[in-house]
Amino acid sequence: MRKVLAFDLGGTKFAFGVVNEDGSVLGSGRVETFAEKGPAQACERVAEAAHQLLTELKLKPVDFVAIGVASPGPLDIARGCVDGSPNLPGWTGFSITEYLSNSFGGLPARIDNDCNAAALGEYRFGAGKGKKNVVYITVSTGIGGGAVIDGRLMRGSNGNAAELGHIPLTMDGPRCGCGNPGCWEVYASGTAIARRAREALASGRASTLAGLAGGAEHVTTHHILQAMAAGDGLSKEIWDESINYLGRGLGAVINTFNPDVIVVGGGVTAAGDALFVPMRKSASSYAFPRLSAVCTIVPAGLGGNVGVVGAAACAFEHVS
Ligand SMILES: [Zn+2]
Repeated sequence: MRKVLAFDLGGTKFAFGVVNEDGSVLGSGRVETFAEKGPAQACERVAEAAHQLLTELKLKPVDFVAIGVASPGPLDIARGCVDGSPNLPGWTGFSITEYLSNSFGGLPARIDNDCNAAALGEYRFGAGKGKKNVVYITVSTGIGGGAVIDGRLMRGSNGNAAELGHIPLTMDGPRCGCGNPGCWEVYASGTAIARRAREALASGRASTLAGLAGGAEHVTTHHILQAMAAGDGLSKEIWDESINYLGRGLGAVINTFNPDVIVVGGGVTAAGDALFVPMRKSASSYAFPRLSAVCTIVPAGLGGNVGVVGAAACAFEHVS
């Protein structure tokens, strides 16, 4: 079976794996990125660790058809570079694909936006398997998105399509990392949900939340759910608002893409039914009935492997 060597670059971890054409992962590993120290040291260490994995698996670069890299955007896809990613300062202009290609016998290497790669991974091997129109959304530190429409990953003009976290929900909301006010992710990401809880606590609202978390500054969505289950009114209010914000964004996604399925991943999905059941209802209320009727909203299927398997899916697409 054909294999690719896949890399998943993040601000803290640089993961890699050997992935078969059926999406199965033969072996994987990760190194610290130490993003602030620049790209050369991170690429050098990840390449060395990947070479070790190949040795353990008794494989050589010649046993692979390609290298795939998933990275936070924006990206210069043609040159294989990060281009102004806030979590990877100083990386702009360094060709990650060229470095990795040179390290592994000149294998063709391809970089894609991590959420677009995750969308293709979930479409081919995960919760979107068998569907033609799959939108992937991750709700964690921010909100990321990717879309496979009519069976093709939607990359856009220069590979940066589907920045869905930056759908504007309001004209005058809190300022987003992208510079604009009121983006979806400043209301509904895991970070934003916790921030709204902290703001409510700082305004003097009574709640068991701060005590439960060991201080207002430590509040996460996990604590909000825990406090809500124990009857805390403020936590229920914050969660209901979050569901409403998530639903509004998902409604916009349904109306924009008319997908068969929206696959939702990221840390906040650990909430399970407490998230998915009300979020589905909220999303349908913000979308046209004809479109929401055909769209299911489901948890991601690839779990922690989504980055590596997504990068592999993009690499296979490139060589086939
Ligand atoms: Zn934004």
